[in-house]
This record gives sequence, structure tokens and C-alpha cells, in this order.
Amino acid sequence: MPPIKTRYKVLIVGAGTAGISVAARLAKKLPRDSIAILDPASKHYYQPLWTLVGGGVGTREETEREQRDLIPAGVAWICDAAKALDPDANRVALESGGAITYDFLVVCPGIQLDWHKVVGLAGNVGKHGICSNYSYESVAHTWPMIQATKSGAALFTHPSTPIKCGGAPQKIMYLAESTFRKRGLRQDVDVQFICGMGSSFAVPRYQHALDAVMKRRNITPTYLHDLVEIRPEQQVAVFARVDDPSQRFEKSFSMIHVTPPMSAPDFIEKSPLANEGGWCDVDKGTMQSPKYPNVFALGDASSLPTSKTGAAIRKQAPACAENVLSVINGKQPTAIYDGYTSCPLVTDYGKLILAEFDYDKNLQETFPFDQSKERWSMYMLKKHVLPKLYWHGMLKGRA
Ligand SMILES: Cc1cc2nc3c(=O)[nH]c(=O)nc-3n(C[C@H](O)[C@H](O)[C@H](O)COP(=O)(O)OP(=O)(O)OC[C@H]3O[C@@H](n4cnc5c(N)ncnc54)[C@H](O)[C@@H]3O)c2cc1C
Repeated sequence: MPPIKTRYKVLIVGAGTAGISVAARLAKKLPRDSIAILDPASKHYYQPLWTLVGGGVGTREETEREQRDLIPAGVAWICDAAKALDPDANRVALESGGAITYDFLVVCPGIQLDWHKVVGLAGNVGKHGICSNYSYESVAHTWPMIQATKSGAALFTHPSTPIKCGGAPQKIMYLAESTFRKRGLRQDVDVQFICGMGSSFAVPRYQHALDAVMKRRNITPTYLHDLVEIRPEQQVAVFARVDDPSQRFEKSFSMIHVTPPMSAPDFIEKSPLANEGGWCDVDKGTMQSPKYPNVFALGDASSLPTSKTGAAIRKQAPACAENVLSVINGKQPTAIYDGYTSCPLVTDYGKLILAEFDYDKNLQETFPFDQSKERWSMYMLKKHVLPKLYWHGMLKGRA
């Protein structure tokens, strides 16, 4: 690994799905030692498999790699966190003190998990029947808690904020429901989906398919309600109406799978790069900042108005890298991202609906069959093919 300098031609903030994918592409075209990635995390995770880990399929250790082994050759890794962005001075301040300057910046530090925004949640995940697939630490508790549930209510929440992988809050619910059914406990466990959004999915074709799954499996949905408080010792969850938080109801639970509220990272929100919502503001086609032409953003931290997934980044990264190279060479960015995103909606062990669509919610399906039908082949794709595509294709700048 090249030694660390204080100035780079290209600085990438975040070495997750987006950061490594873009770095791998740029490293093929730019001289050695001209790119640095800034990230404090020593591990890298393939988060899409956390759904299956939570459902008792595979281990969380299989989703983890050493960050060091993924940084492309010739790219420097600065093991530190961005504290503040100063695009007027082409400068990123570091958490440990000091700063790195750059000619071109790519911003992709992912989305922030706001556990503290639900009263009583922080510090209690993994106890009192509370679990969540949304972090490497917490995913370890999901399967034991599903197995321990024999009666009472099993609640699955989805907040009204933007989240990563909009389908993940439901996927684990379908696996849990299947487990209760196979164990002969289904009549004793009341499975409920409590969601801050107005419907089960943003695209009508897949929404109808998911609504039918819930109906057939006797899962009760409640929409436009956010989880606002948990009383852990009593195992009680408090929900409030999204449009009138004074209207609340309480629900006792045996287990609750929480998808925490999420937001743009604070250091972006406080920077001149943020849009009104705090996300790194970029053109939805070129991924270039409208105010700072030497700045690009992609992935979950960006303002791109699509569903936040790794699959979306698979299409964003090639276009973003191409545009960064164009601007470095004094040209206009011309590569366009069309909003493509995909959500492999696991509906049971061995069943999956593969949602694929663009900014306008037009279907962008890959296969020549109706992907809104639950299929074994698509489950196999998620379990066996997509992880390989990720580690050996996407992160190498090949897929
Ligand atoms: C349970 C679950 C299921 C999912 N299922 C799917 C799925 O089936 N299909 C799919 O396509 N996607 C899925 N996703 C979503 C997918 O994992 C994310 O959309 C994707 O990883 C986002 O990539 P990113 O690079 O923007 O952020 P991340 O991959 O989260 O990486 C962000 C990186 O930035 C670093 N960082 C944070 N703050 C700073 C800072 N201040 N300075 C420097 N670095 C920083 C972090 O350490 C991290 O390494 C799922 C996610 C979860 C949690």
C-alpha cells in the first residue's frame, strides 16, 4: 500500500460498496498513488446477506472481509474518518486532526443509523426480544430471537425515513413467519408489519405481489405509523402516526425486529455539499455536484432519488468513474445513471420476487419472465450468485 500523503488527485470518502467499486475503476486509468480512500473501518461487509443470516441461513462471518484486502492496488487507504468537508478549500478535515486536500472528491460514506431516535432502543438491541438485521453487531441476535418466539406478537417495523434496502424490513418478517409456521406455532404468534410508509412497496406491480403474500400468510400490516419508543423491560413498543405524532398506540411483543430511522451522515448535512435533506447534492444523471464541479457522490449518502441499494451502486459506479475521468481530462461529464435499482424480495426460504426499476418506477427487469412472481431460481441467485458477483466483479471494477 502506498504511503499516506496530504494531497491526492482523487480522494474517495467511504470504502463501502460505492467507494471500493469506484476506486477499482479509477485505479485502472490513473497513475499509482494518485487516489486515496478515507475510511476508519477495518472490516467491509456484504450487507445484503444479513437478511439470510437473520433468518438462520449462513453466518455473519461469511459477510465480512478485511478492508485492507479490498483496497485496489496502487490506492492509498487512510484509516480515519472525515470530520468536516470544505469544498471551497478542496479540503477534508479528519477526525484524528489534520486534513487531506484533493483535486477531485468522491463522497460515499453510506447512510447513518439513528438508533437513538427511538426512545429506549439504543443499548437494548439483542435484549428483551429486540433485534435488528441492520448492523453486523445486531444481526447476530435475530435468529436466536426468532427461534425463542413461541407465542405472542412478533412485530416488524419500517420507519418513514429513507432507509437502505427498502425491502429488508419485510424480508426478515417472511422468514420468521415461515419458521413459526414450520414449527407448528403459527396460530400462537401474531405477525404484524408496522410501517411508516403509505404502502408495502413503491412500485405498484411489486406492491400488489407483496400485499398478496401478506394476505395469504395472515400478516397484519399497519401503515403510516413510526416506532417512537420501546419500553424494553416490559416488552412494549409505542407507535405514532406519521402525520399526527400525538396519535399513538402501544403493542406488547414477544419479539420485535427494528429497522432504525436513518439519515444522511452529520458531517455531510453540516457541509456546503448538502441539499435540504442533508444528502450530498448531485445531478441525478451525472452524479456531479451542481455547485462544485470537482465533487461527485453516489450510493446511500447521495441525493440520487432512487431506492438505496448495492444493486443501484452497481450501475452508478461505472458512470460515476467515467465522469470523474472526463472532468479530470477537462471534458464535460456525459455518462448518465438512469436510476436503476433492484431489491431481491425474499418472501420465504427458497422464494424471492426480484424487483428491478428506474427513477420513473418503470420496470427494468433482467429476465424474460414475470419477476413479480415468487421464484426458487431468484432465491438461488441472491444466495449464491450475487455474493460472488459482488466480491469478484463489482469490487474489482468488472461488473
Ligand atoms: C439488512 C440489509 C439488507 C440489504 N439487502 C440488500 C439487497 O438485497 N440488495 C442490495 O442491493 N442492497 C441491499 N442492502 C443495501 C446495501 O448494502 C447498501 O445500499 C450499500 O452497501 C450502500 O453502499 P455505500 O457504499 O453507499 O455505503 P456502505 O456500503 O454502507 O459503506 C459506507 C462506508 O463509509 C464509511 N464511513 C462512514 N462514515 C465515514 C466517515 N465519516 N469518513 C469516512 N468513511 C466513513 C463506513 O465505514 C463504510 O465503510 C442491504 C442492507 C442491509 C443493512
